[in-house]
Amino acid sequence: MRDHFEARDWDGAGRVGRLDVPRAGVTVETPALLPVVNPNIQTLEPRRMETEFGAQILITNSYIIKTSDGLREDALDQGLHDLLDFHGAIMTDSGSFQLAEYGDIDVTTEEILQFQYDIGSDVGTPVDIPTPPDASREQAAEELRTTQERLGIAEGVDVGDMLVNAPVQGSTHADLREEAGRHAASTDLDVFPVGAVVPLMNDYRYGDMVDVVAAAKRGLDQDCPVHLFGAGHPMMFALAAAMGCDLFDSAAYALYARDDRYLTVRGTKHLDDLEHLPCPCPVCSEHTPAELRALGERERGDELAAHNLHVSFAEMRRVRQAIRTGSLMELVEARARAHPAMLDGYRAALDHAEQLERTDSASKDTFFYLSGESARRPEVVRHHERLDRLAPEGDVLLTEGDNDDDFDESWTVEPPFGPFPRALRNTYPLTAEVPERLDGAAFDAAADGVAALCAGSDAAFTLAHRDWPERALARVPEDVSLVNLHGREH
Ligand SMILES: [Zn+2]
Repeated sequence: MRDHFEARDWDGAGRVGRLDVPRAGVTVETPALLPVVNPNIQTLEPRRMETEFGAQILITNSYIIKTSDGLREDALDQGLHDLLDFHGAIMTDSGSFQLAEYGDIDVTTEEILQFQYDIGSDVGTPVDIPTPPDASREQAAEELRTTQERLGIAEGVDVGDMLVNAPVQGSTHADLREEAGRHAASTDLDVFPVGAVVPLMNDYRYGDMVDVVAAAKRGLDQDCPVHLFGAGHPMMFALAAAMGCDLFDSAAYALYARDDRYLTVRGTKHLDDLEHLPCPCPVCSEHTPAELRALGERERGDELAAHNLHVSFAEMRRVRQAIRTGSLMELVEARARAHPAMLDGYRAALDHAEQLERTDSASKDTFFYLSGESARRPEVVRHHERLDRLAPEGDVLLTEGDNDDDFDESWTVEPPFGPFPRALRNTYPLTAEVPERLDGAAFDAAADGVAALCAGSDAAFTLAHRDWPERALARVPEDVSLVNLHGREH
């Protein structure tokens, strides 16, 4: 049992929680964004992140500090919090990223954890092996063994009340990611970064990213706080949060700003292409794009970085609010419409609907049916699982119209859920708001609901529908009598 992390509200696998960071004396509200602070180049001062942006935690790189002479001495003398002038929690990376980029680093897990402890880090990281996507199974398995040995070493280092990361690797092999998650959860380490996903996000492979996270989550326990390492684009926060990621870190706000790239929740724009700034943050309220373009390079970069960070923090607040009210899936749907690759990510998430359903809240804000994808949401899956367990008897009418006393029982049918007893019509999610002009997926799902009910019951069923498409009716079991209400009603 990990008592430093508590999930309070659930929506799908997404959760609003609290991460206690004892060494900092700080409780971080999750899902949380950790701005990446480069100890050599500070685009925005950490103090400003705290006061202006509300950052409760940031991440910096202990390997860079350790290998830069002046920085190392200053960090050891003053401590990291004074060095960066930041009073929230500070997580430190170990140099594994440098290992992935440059192929070699000169530090062991014992040394780097001790160093992180000595400079006052609140969450430290061992030196794991970030196996890139699409690595061979053999390579991924071998490197995972090394990472697991390092986690064992990390458990043995005395770091007081500093929390320690237990990275979950395994490349794009779902079984390895799951095993890695299970192993990491069995250690006494504290925070669980899903590692080496940056190449997937850089290539817009959001579907693959979702599969990797889903696999890692199957291995991890519910009390494991999960960090999607290197995930800094606000466009994908809602999707990743819905898969159960609690921590995100953004270097993107600064890196993109240097190239005049402007982050939005619907993707990235180039400053040269903007005639208007579609954002209410202080930077965008006080400048036109032309004014930003006229600034010197340094100042322009700082303003864009501030905007990028405002957008990112605002989206993280929106994600937390959506989880609280149970409308996270609606937010994910909206974000999925920004880019076809995001739609792939959402569709991949729905492939894991049963996994998301296990922790989904049973009562949320009204279910909005917004697209064919809505028909595959966890709430629909759950309803169908329930139907499988219900067994009405006798002659049973399933109808989109009125009761009929000629039948022993009369149930309502509504796409996308399918049949349900009338008494349940005011319960979530059957209070769903559904458009008048439904798509085929809604009827298909309703037909699958009929099939699920039939599978568990010996009753004689009649389905009275309003002009369902042939494709949906073909999914209804053959022994169900069909009545088309269309034309009979007025
Ligand atoms: Zn802005």
